[in-house]
This record gives sequence, structure tokens and C-alpha cells, in this order.
Amino acid sequence: MLDIKKIRADFPILSRKVNGQDLVYFDNAATSQTPQQVIDVIVDYYSRLNANIHRGVHRLSQEATDAYEQARITIQKHFNAAQPYEIILTSGTTESINLIASGYSTLLEAGDQLIISALEHHSNIVPWQMLCEKTGAELKVIPMTLNGTLDMEAYENMLNSKTKLVFVNHVSNALGTVNPIEEIINKAHAYNAKVLLDGAQACPHIKPDVQALDVDFYVASAHKLCGPTGVGMLYGKSELLETLPPYQGGGEMIATVTFEKTTYADLPHKFEAGTPNIAGGIAFGAALDYMNGIGMDTIARYEAELLDYATAELKKIEGLKIFGEAIEKTAVISFNVGSLHPYDLGSILDQMGIAVRTGHHCAQPIMDFFEIPGTVRASFSFYNTFEEVDRLVAGVRKAVLMLH
Ligand SMILES: *Cc1c(COP(=O)(O)O)cnc(C)c1O
Repeated sequence: MLDIKKIRADFPILSRKVNGQDLVYFDNAATSQTPQQVIDVIVDYYSRLNANIHRGVHRLSQEATDAYEQARITIQKHFNAAQPYEIILTSGTTESINLIASGYSTLLEAGDQLIISALEHHSNIVPWQMLCEKTGAELKVIPMTLNGTLDMEAYENMLNSKTKLVFVNHVSNALGTVNPIEEIINKAHAYNAKVLLDGAQACPHIKPDVQALDVDFYVASAHKLCGPTGVGMLYGKSELLETLPPYQGGGEMIATVTFEKTTYADLPHKFEAGTPNIAGGIAFGAALDYMNGIGMDTIARYEAELLDYATAELKKIEGLKIFGEAIEKTAVISFNVGSLHPYDLGSILDQMGIAVRTGHHCAQPIMDFFEIPGTVRASFSFYNTFEEVDRLVAGVRKAVLMLH
């Protein structure tokens, strides 16, 4: 059981007012809120530890380095990576994806094939388009079906000996669909293709085991996991990370530098040029500790109940259509009401203190597929309540009356 009162008390922002009303925060798929325990870690870092890491002989630098490397181990354990150095700390999912795309620009040849899916976030589309332009590789897209799932038969037919890489999100941020990642990975591996999973939207709800999945690369952002913005991770199998060239040149990522030749540092430092987001990395670890303290299974169970309740209540509203009704779904509801513009609905909800997202959710191809400009997206977290869902439903009803 989840002690919702106690949990909500951990999040200072949840007690603020918006437009004179108690805030209802349903934009968790864009970013999650931060508990006091994580805020305290950031304050403590700047109050007590602040120093550059990895290079200093002095006490502060050593303590900051230890805290940063301990966070890496926390992240490693959370994702069950075999080694801490298989966790690269980045500025977030987008940078993690670009790091891999940049690395593969030296490893691909014209005629190689890459596969993405129709359900991707722009950050898992654009870097691969750029990679294809650079290398002459060809991009193929797994089509989606009307209920918001991937056409797995089409995927199987796309795979061949030229397929080098497959990139899909673990969970779609626009629709909440949980993709059949085991099947995607196993089928790709049968052709010796490598798989990158974009876990930005999955990790707030699901604890992935990268070794059990046998996935090649897995990426996520701390800010969707109760952590700060500007930090994220890339997991890669060490033998694959070894074969990729460095992403950026600079300090921290070198072993020796002369003007004739530079040799690169070992993993993970080869991919971590410059001074990283030290406070953010440490807070990322604290955020995972916080979520694991509640328990990812407990979180998933509670959110599934919220999702079922919200889906049933919203569906009672005449003319309301939900986009994405996969059986396997996380707590995201994308919807429209009749021909009302999602932006107008979202603006009225905001006046009532209810935060939802409207628009294409960085997934324009999905909106094109449904032939809509966008949706209203309500995305739930474990700190949301059934009463808040009631306020959303009442808010939508009221907005519909006002707009008609
Ligand atoms: C949020 C999100 C991203 C982008 O994450 P950033 O933190 O903005 O880099 C990528 N993919 C999915 C599925 C997302 O939900």
C-alpha cells in the first residue's frame, strides 16, 4: 500500500496554489516533481561539498568524487548493469541518443539499414535522420496501428542482414503504450542488429533490468524520475561502448595529451568530457533511492489503478476520444473532445489550476497518423490522487460547456 498523504508531504510544490486553486499536476510525462529529500541533496552539495571531481587531492574534491561515483553505482544497481562503468552520465535522454548516433557515424556504411518506430519522440527520430544523411544508411519506420501499438509483423519483415541498429522507445510519451521490447530485442539480435531503448517515459513506472533484457543501449532522464533537470544516463554494454569513438573532446576524457597524439580515458570517462552536472548526478542517485524506497512495484500498481479510474471517468464525457488504447499502457491519457482544440481545453483547465499538456508532445508523426493537430495529455504519477482525477473530469466537463 502506498501512503499517499505521507508521499504528498514530501513534495513542496504540490501544496502551492495556481490561479487560486490547489495545483493538480498532470504533466508528469513532461517532467516529474521533486521531493524534499532530493532538493536537500542538491542544497547539501552546494552547502558542503562543492568542488570539481576526479582531479583534486583535497578533501572536498575527494568527497564530491565519492558522492558522484556512488550515484553512478546507485544507477547501475537500479538498472542492473553489470558494471558501473557501463553507466555514462549525460545531460539527459536527448544527449544520450546523440552520443550513440554520433559514435555510429563512423561505424556505418552506405546501404546499412536502421529501424525506428512510428511511436518515437522527436529526440529518437531526428538524430537518426541526421546519421543517415551523414552515412548513406537507410531509415525504416515500424508502422503503428489504430490502438497505438506497433505493427510487429511489419517489423519482422523489415529485418534483414543489412539491419544494423533498431531504436524504439520502451514506452511512448504521447500515448503511454508499453512496447513489446523483449520481442523487439530478440528479433533484432537474430540478425545481429543492436538495439537502443529510449526509456525516458518507461523509467518513472517500470524498473528495467538491462541484463535480463540483453539490451545493447538504454537511455533515460533524471527529471522524469523525481530528479533534477540537466542530467541523465546512457547504459551501454561495455564491449559496444569500447568500439564507439568519443563523443566530445575535452578535459576528463583523455588519458594522455600531446600535440602529436591523444589517448582516451577508459570507460566511463571517455564519454564524459568536461565538468559534469555534479550536483545533478548525485541528486539523480538520491531520486532513484527515493523511488525505490516507495517501491517500483507499489508505484506501478497504484498508477495502474489511477489510470483505470481516470480512463473510465473520462470516457463518460460525451464526445471524448482517447488516443492510444493499448492493453499494456502506463499512466498517460491522450484525448480530445469532439472538434474542440486541445489548446483551448488546456487553457481553461489551467485557469482551474490543472496542469495538462496540449499539442503534439514531440511526436508529430503520431498526430499525423491520427490526422489531428494534437491532443490533451494527462499523465499521472504516484503522488497524484483519485480526487485530483475527479477535478480533471469535472474541469473537462466545465470547459466543454464553456467552449460550446
Ligand atoms: C522526455 C522524452 C525524451 C526527451 O528527454 P529529454 O530529457 O528532454 O532529453 C525522449 N524520449 C521520450 C520517450 C521522452 O518521454
